[in-house]
Amino acid sequence: MTTVKKKILLITSPRPKPGDSPLHFGDNRPPQGLGYLAAYLKQNGHEVEIIDLYAFGGEIFHNNPFVNQEEIGKQLHIDILENIASFRPDFIGMYIHTMSFETACDLSRELKQFYPDLVQICGGPHPTIMPESMPDTFDYIVIGEGEYALLDIVEGYTSDRIIYGNHLRSKDLDKLPWPDFDLFWGKPYNWGLKLYEKDIWPVFTISTSRGCPFRCRFCGIKYVYPFFKGISERRIFDRMIQLAKRYGVETFYFREDCFTADLRRLEAFCSLIIEKGINFKWVCESRVKELSPRLIRKMRRAGCLGLYIGCESGSPRVLKNMRKDETREDFIEKFPILHEHGINTYTTWVYGTPDEHAADRRLTDELITMIQPTTVDRFVYIGIPKSDYYNQFLENREYEFIDKCGFLYPNGYLSLATQLYGKEDPRVQYVRRIYSQNSIANVDIQW
Ligand code: SF4
Repeated sequence: MTTVKKKILLITSPRPKPGDSPLHFGDNRPPQGLGYLAAYLKQNGHEVEIIDLYAFGGEIFHNNPFVNQEEIGKQLHIDILENIASFRPDFIGMYIHTMSFETACDLSRELKQFYPDLVQICGGPHPTIMPESMPDTFDYIVIGEGEYALLDIVEGYTSDRIIYGNHLRSKDLDKLPWPDFDLFWGKPYNWGLKLYEKDIWPVFTISTSRGCPFRCRFCGIKYVYPFFKGISERRIFDRMIQLAKRYGVETFYFREDCFTADLRRLEAFCSLIIEKGINFKWVCESRVKELSPRLIRKMRRAGCLGLYIGCESGSPRVLKNMRKDETREDFIEKFPILHEHGINTYTTWVYGTPDEHAADRRLTDELITMIQPTTVDRFVYIGIPKSDYYNQFLENREYEFIDKCGFLYPNGYLSLATQLYGKEDPRVQYVRRIYSQNSIANVDIQW
């Protein structure tokens, strides 16, 4: 079959309005996933544009602290219908996560009304874990990684509505082209690294793996990517050199589920940077248990400035229940070593998981005081569809509410969130409002 060049518009679904979500809106980095899809489609001869409605699609653009406010005046409000009228795509591909499920459905219905012949494809975490929830305005639903499935749809090799992605076809991420940063550079994304040092700019995000070998019960990653796979260390290193030459960037943020999951790759990557004597700086998502003192020293020598670490709890009982496979002792041992070597620690902690008591929360707070992370971000647990904890709360009917996006609020959620975030916090006000609209009674819990 001769391939006819097609036009594909890739978009992120618009983020909810301020005060319309129980979660933070994220830190406004360029969408790597769409970058990968665009690069693969272009490599196969198709024309692609990206519009990031999640970052720039409306009112939130003017309220997001991570958006460079000086740049705002240079950007126009994005009218997606106008963009479609001028680009005239054959397909529109929408990336959807649970937080923007409702806005995605609204937009899809609107697009169907104005452009009934435009083929709509959806993908991303939410369609992957809950394909049955996607409205029939979407002609295709891609499960998991999208590159090969999307190309099959665009080139007419499939007519199935639900299509399974790359993980069933290839384990080799080295075969995929890198995202084209020309699509993002110059737009008012968050190009800085304020969490670590105020003056680090620009910082480029790179995604070098998909999936995670661990199985934390609050996390739904295994349903999105069934196994871990990573880009080779040599290719990552070459990519950094390439970006440094083209954009003058020296600092990188490896933004993925667990950059350090493959210890062999991590060692080899650090060795490459040290051997070549190149002064790159980088931060990444990581666990601490597997990092030996020797490896931590080596990471620092290779330019590691900081780690994003999901500690989640200081209670041995809760950590075990989470199937975290890291202990309180791991944190007590590794944090001083990281700090001693000048590696900063951004940490997340979650309260309100199943069977957690006040004594467990105290253990968490004590541990935070003891290990003194550079940054502490505390959250109250909300159930993400299909994760083990979500299923447990659902089966035991231990929840106050499930909202339109599918988030589950366990018993005591509003009480804990009010105590942790404060009653003026927009997340708390949102949940209070939807509870009131739906006549939901909440359970009081003492911190
Ligand atoms: S929480 Fe992190 S370490 Fe645990 S399974 Fe999810 S991605 Fe892996």
